Amino acid sequence: MWRWLRIAILLLVLGIAAYSTLYDRFTTTDWNETLWIGVFPVNAGGSAVSEGYIASLTTEDLADIERFINAEARRHGVTLSRPVRVDLYPEVHEQPPPRARGANPLSTVWWSLKLRWYARRNSHPAGRPAPRIRVFVLYHDPTFTQSVPHSVGLQKGLVGVVHAYAQRDMTRTNNVVIAHEILHTLGATDKYDPTSLAPLYPDGYAEPERQPRYPQRLTEIMAGRYAVDAGTYEMPETLTDVRVGTATAREIRWVQAP
Ligand SMILES: [Zn+2]
Repeated sequence: MWRWLRIAILLLVLGIAAYSTLYDRFTTTDWNETLWIGVFPVNAGGSAVSEGYIASLTTEDLADIERFINAEARRHGVTLSRPVRVDLYPEVHEQPPPRARGANPLSTVWWSLKLRWYARRNSHPAGRPAPRIRVFVLYHDPTFTQSVPHSVGLQKGLVGVVHAYAQRDMTRTNNVVIAHEILHTLGATDKYDPTSLAPLYPDGYAEPERQPRYPQRLTEIMAGRYAVDAGTYEMPETLTDVRVGTATAREIRWVQAP
């Protein structure tokens, strides 16, 4: 009797988890109403430079992310007038849980649960509606940080953690990374080779049909780099030269698979 009850409860919990994942997946990519995205700055190293930079941030500094996603949605046939809305939220003073080192699947599951719990705790500032997608941007002081850890975006939990530079002239480059992680939360997959970082042909090319193929001028957002020639890849400086390719547009349900 108790054994059956325990199994029933376990199945119920698993069922609820599976349902909520599916529910999130479909309601964030049905493009029936504006999807609210919140960007929450975090001071990564506690430096005064990062603090000053965060204090200077306004929603206008994030405006090209919203412009980019909405323009690309329209180009792919989405008719909603404002598919996404990107707002700056108040600074969060708690650091997100550090990513588990190594590839132990159990520690990855544990880390992603802690991250979801962190996002839930820190995305409800008083007097503001909580956004559907939560992106925590950790600003690093460029004087002390030559390279930052990998950014992540998780569809399960609708949460992203972006590592960025607290430097005025990096603002628009940071926005390229933020946009990439936002699309991960909507189900888009990476389109580059993890070893060489080469954009994958054709899905990681913004203009796969271009003749001659090189140099490409535009970057596919989930490739993160564009091919100057067959062996040279560059990162874009702003979202102006970035596009959402057809494969990514299918993954986030802007277009139906043929
Ligand atoms: Zn990625």
